[in-house]
Amino acid sequence: TTSTSSSSTEEPELRSPILCILGHVDTGKTSLLDKIRSTNVQGGEARGITQQIGASFIPVENIRDQAKDLAERLKFEFKLPGLLLIDTPGHESFNNLRSRGSGLCDLAILVIDIMHGLEAQTIESINLLRMRKTPFIVALNKVDRIYEWRPCRNVDIRESLKVQSRHAAQEFDSRVKDTVAQLAVQELNASLYWKNPDHRKYVSLVPTSAVTGEGIPDLMVLATQLMQKIMAEKVTYRDELQCTILEVKTIEGLGATVDAVLVNGVLSEGDKIVVSGFGAPIVSTIRSLLTPPPLRETRVKTQLIPNKSVKASMGVKIVAPGLEKAVPGTSLLVCTEDDDLEDLKAQAQSEIDSVLNDVETSGVGVSVQASTLGSLEAFISFLKKIKVPVANVAIGPIHKKNVMACSIMREKDPKYAIMLAFDVKIEESAQQAANDMKITIMSEDTIYLFEKRLEDHFNAIKEKLRDETANTCVWPVLLDVIRVFRKKDPILVGVRVKEGTLRIGTPLIQAEGMADIGTVQNIKLNEKDVQVANKGDEVSISINDSSASTTFGRHFDDKKVWFSKISRDSIDALKQGWGDELSKQDVALIKYMKQVFKIQ
Ligand code: GDP
Repeated sequence: TTSTSSSSTEEPELRSPILCILGHVDTGKTSLLDKIRSTNVQGGEARGITQQIGASFIPVENIRDQAKDLAERLKFEFKLPGLLLIDTPGHESFNNLRSRGSGLCDLAILVIDIMHGLEAQTIESINLLRMRKTPFIVALNKVDRIYEWRPCRNVDIRESLKVQSRHAAQEFDSRVKDTVAQLAVQELNASLYWKNPDHRKYVSLVPTSAVTGEGIPDLMVLATQLMQKIMAEKVTYRDELQCTILEVKTIEGLGATVDAVLVNGVLSEGDKIVVSGFGAPIVSTIRSLLTPPPLRETRVKTQLIPNKSVKASMGVKIVAPGLEKAVPGTSLLVCTEDDDLEDLKAQAQSEIDSVLNDVETSGVGVSVQASTLGSLEAFISFLKKIKVPVANVAIGPIHKKNVMACSIMREKDPKYAIMLAFDVKIEESAQQAANDMKITIMSEDTIYLFEKRLEDHFNAIKEKLRDETANTCVWPVLLDVIRVFRKKDPILVGVRVKEGTLRIGTPLIQAEGMADIGTVQNIKLNEKDVQVANKGDEVSISINDSSASTTFGRHFDDKKVWFSKISRDSIDALKQGWGDELSKQDVALIKYMKQVFKIQ
């Protein structure tokens, strides 16, 4: 085993907490990760040397060395075996660190560029962290870019702040304040970590520089401290296997492999495993379990080393035949002698089904596709939040059959005949089919970019429908005629809107005798032209009566109420184009007018 742990009789054995780095592009996620790893390697830089297999184990000895001064000052005692840092920063690995809907990341580091404050993906990250209920700390990165900053290599941030000029310190303070205010807008209380009154209520800010290493000791110590103090139960080691697949890779000489994170329990060479697969569960046997050599020995480009067994928590590359169809974001199960293989296969399948079946039961909604179970789950949850119904979901590249499934929506509700491709490939035949059937495929690799595109899509469809139905569409209105200026060619009258809204283009009728009056040409409210008159308004209107075969005074008059002339078709057109904007009163008036005009 590569994981070290100090178990005594009184205290429970702890495992290394799993840490993820999230944040907007270019805030310095990769640089921070490299810095944390490299400063932990004896003898210098390790950038690009360690083979990345999903997660890097930072042993506690390294953290202790690196944060010696800080830990001494804080009288901090390390109890954890180390930290397990997920190698690929960003949403995808965070999303895939899941098990049955809950997140497996114990603590996240949200990176914010101190010079930029909150950015679009910062907010998306916050939403993901909330969705998974993952605690996090903020690395307020790039402090070295503050004007006149005096770099102090690898020291803890408060030591560095002591030597800064008044100007630099002032700029630092004001930028921290700005970030705190921006986080407050996101309904998060935040505080510099050494001033944090309550870690359960306030998010801690750790100023860092991935270039000079300032604040890196603080980041490590704070992460360790939080896990030990507040989340000790979460990181208590358990024997029960918990292992999740982050990525599937085919490697020359090894064949299909998966990069997995072993959260709890032990994996051994020769274990019979069950993994969720595209199509069907995969049953296989572990050929080898590879881990990078312990960090301290990583001086030259080294091969991954094989292990007889690996104990949690640890990142591990698993080699086993048939894994090429494994679904990232699902659990890896081990079939022991006591287990029923069929039960485990069903369990593996149900994990996928639980996400795939999370769709609109009415069968009306958009079609959604993502590359992994974790990202699909996050995407569906996002669409729920922005109230877009989902009818079809799938994992993996978009095939023609997915487009066919989506095309059914053209009859059910055309606005949902649209495919959302989140970070997936689109097969050429699928694109062709989509073009032929006029199905839009929206493709993005970040969730939040879909929101605006969907809004535009739905608005464009609404506009088009309104244009198409403009001639048939009639709003319900009931008018009292209060003055007559002119009786024909055109008719000019003063009216009060009793119910509903009066719009230009509305055909008018007198219910008694079903006498057509003409079409509203112009509306004036207090001498000013308006498009719409609302309930209670008194307006003067001109009515084009040229095509009506009726006469004022003979077929209709100002003593009776006038209505807009509605029909079955006009009601349908109104509902289609404006359904979401009809008020309760509009609906009630339509109902009343349907009785008056005997419309079914
Ligand atoms: P990522 O997209 O979040 O992974 O960001 P990167 O780690 O790729 O960094 C983006 C750019 O910012 C690179 O040019 C880095 O060298 C630079 N950078 C990252 N961290 C720092 C920092 O703390 N200080 C300064 N001055 N530059 C940084």
